[in-house]
Amino acid sequence: MEHFNTGNNRIKVAESAGFCFGVKRAVGMAEEVAAKAPEGRTVYTMGPLIHNQTAIEELEQKNIYQIDHLQQAEPGSTVIIRSHGAGRAFYEQAKAYGVELVDATCPFVEKIHKLVAETDRQVLIVGNRDHPEVQGIAGWCKGEALIADSKEAVQKLLQERDASGHEQERRALFVVAQTTIRQAMLEEVLTAIDGYGKTHAPYEVELHNTICSATSKRQEECRALAEKCDAMVVIGDQHSSNSRKLFEIAKKYCNRCFFVEKTTDLPLQEILNCNKIGVATGASTPDSTIKEVIANMSDATLENKELTMDDLMEDIDKSLRLPRSGEIVTGKVHQVNENEVIVNLGCKKDGILPIGEVSLEEGQTLADVFKADDEVQAKVIKTDDDGGLLLSKKKLEISANWNDIVKAYEDKTNLEVKVTRTVNGGVIAEYKEVSGFIPLSQLSDHYVENAEEFVGQTMEVKVSRVDQRRNRAVFSHKMFLAEEKEKLIAEIWEKLNEGDVVEGTVMRFTDYGAFVDIGGIDGLLHISEISWGKLKHPQEVLSIGQKINVKVLSMNAEKGKISLGLKQNTPEPWTVIDEKYEVGQVIEGKVVQIKEYGAFVELEPGLDGLVHISEVAHKRVGNINDELEVGQIVNAKILEIDKDRRRISLSIRETLDAPGAEEAPAEEAPAAEEPAEEAPVAEAPVEEAPAEEAPAEEAAEEQAE
Ligand code: SF4
Repeated sequence: MEHFNTGNNRIKVAESAGFCFGVKRAVGMAEEVAAKAPEGRTVYTMGPLIHNQTAIEELEQKNIYQIDHLQQAEPGSTVIIRSHGAGRAFYEQAKAYGVELVDATCPFVEKIHKLVAETDRQVLIVGNRDHPEVQGIAGWCKGEALIADSKEAVQKLLQERDASGHEQERRALFVVAQTTIRQAMLEEVLTAIDGYGKTHAPYEVELHNTICSATSKRQEECRALAEKCDAMVVIGDQHSSNSRKLFEIAKKYCNRCFFVEKTTDLPLQEILNCNKIGVATGASTPDSTIKEVIANMSDATLENKELTMDDLMEDIDKSLRLPRSGEIVTGKVHQVNENEVIVNLGCKKDGILPIGEVSLEEGQTLADVFKADDEVQAKVIKTDDDGGLLLSKKKLEISANWNDIVKAYEDKTNLEVKVTRTVNGGVIAEYKEVSGFIPLSQLSDHYVENAEEFVGQTMEVKVSRVDQRRNRAVFSHKMFLAEEKEKLIAEIWEKLNEGDVVEGTVMRFTDYGAFVDIGGIDGLLHISEISWGKLKHPQEVLSIGQKINVKVLSMNAEKGKISLGLKQNTPEPWTVIDEKYEVGQVIEGKVVQIKEYGAFVELEPGLDGLVHISEVAHKRVGNINDELEVGQIVNAKILEIDKDRRRISLSIRETLDAPGAEEAPAEEAPAAEEPAEEAPVAEAPVEEAPAEEAPAEEAAEEQAE
């Protein structure tokens, strides 16, 4: 982004032309202070605010006057410390004298003040000892600072130190640089210290390179322009050292160079015939002077007069307009330091983007994110009284974040948020730079007792309410979970078929069965479908949390009900009875029911046999309850298997020794026949006692069940 529009492709202006950040800021502050000063109060600057006569005259018109001693200002007036800064003592003097101080020290210079004020080491300032910035820095040192701007100067200083008998342990230097010196000067001094150390005792150097890149950048641009132009015009004040330095550089690389202070100094005739004219300007040359000179050159060199003086003056006016608070601006990174980024916005004030207004990841620095000349977009948050436009990238992001939130609310889409802390009734969750509230009831799809466990978690949410005007957004994780569940259910319904066998987890019991989770939805496992045998409660064979394979028996999409079966995993016992049982086989079973006419014994779930009362014992049994009880484990012989009628007749008696058989010898065998004599009794309920036929039928039916 070129700051100055020439409208003429024969004139090329250095990108950094115009005030540097520090000067721009100081002038802005002075103008604001003067504009707000009560009537009758004069505003002074301690020394020239800028080294440019035109600019100083313009300031005087705004009631801003230069003084060289504090006493030139009347007590009660306002005194501005210029961008060069001042020593600590000046602040105390000003206070004692009773003037109001406005500190327009450039933040880069202020940083040097802090550095030297904190160190106990011997400070060496590389720079010009007569420069006010250097004097100001020296005024913040704990002891007397060494000041050198050349190899010879530093060697002399070190020799003097040695001659004065400084101790060996004090051979350490804390080196800072005047912000506007060339890198070469700093290197020359450092090399000299090193060389001196080699011939004498060495010096330990702690270097803080405080050279401001604005100066080196300006000089580098001047050199590059001078190399490719037929003529170079350096606009600046004769008293401005940095302007003079630019002129020297330009002369090195270009044969026709002109130093002009104002438009009337322009050697128009000489530059008329040049094809390419480069323009470089000092750090204190006002925009108005630069534009006036450019306009004059343009008028003289343009053939088609694309841009008139009026156009250029209009351009000047435009550049004087400051962006308003809330405006989104685009600029170019001018400088990056530890705590802020200076952004050239192409207007009379630079933007300041403080570190707190940038979203940085842990460990990241501003220099990791911003590089000089990068284009940057930000929101103006304040026209700072301190002379800059305060910018924020965070606020810009917040605007974008709010757009995301509103869109998510309208489109019912999800957002990922991070829960940061608990508050009364819920938690605060952050979506990027925007904080929202999640009520306790919306944190989960189950009851939440302690919200603390959610802090630090990242979760998907729906936006349930949004009020950007009042900066309020309400999120719901529960709504997200409900939607996810719906999706899952729909997916399961889509994939699941009757007859499928799926793995499930027993979730809860009822008297009529168990609910089993089959991957997101619950199906009912009816008690009659759990086992081929009879159960009183599902708990008899299942437990909560148990994993089981279940068969999908039926699906009712309308009612959303799924019936499951467990017993279907094993064959129905009657269908495979031949494989396991035969007549004459003695089985072990459990008495599961006792009737007057006999007892039912379970061979396995779903397979009961009847022990008729006559088959319970060798003796005649009057009351079966005297012999057996429910739950008792007995051995019984299979007398008959009637697959058609699904009946099994069993006999316990036949597994028992005949009475007296144990103690009686073989000869006493006839006694064993006693039951044989009594055998008809066994049939009695069926053949001899019609009255007992009913129970027999009943028994058959019950068995068949
Ligand atoms: S040259 Fe750099 S340090 Fe000096 S006033 Fe300008 S911005 Fe500040």
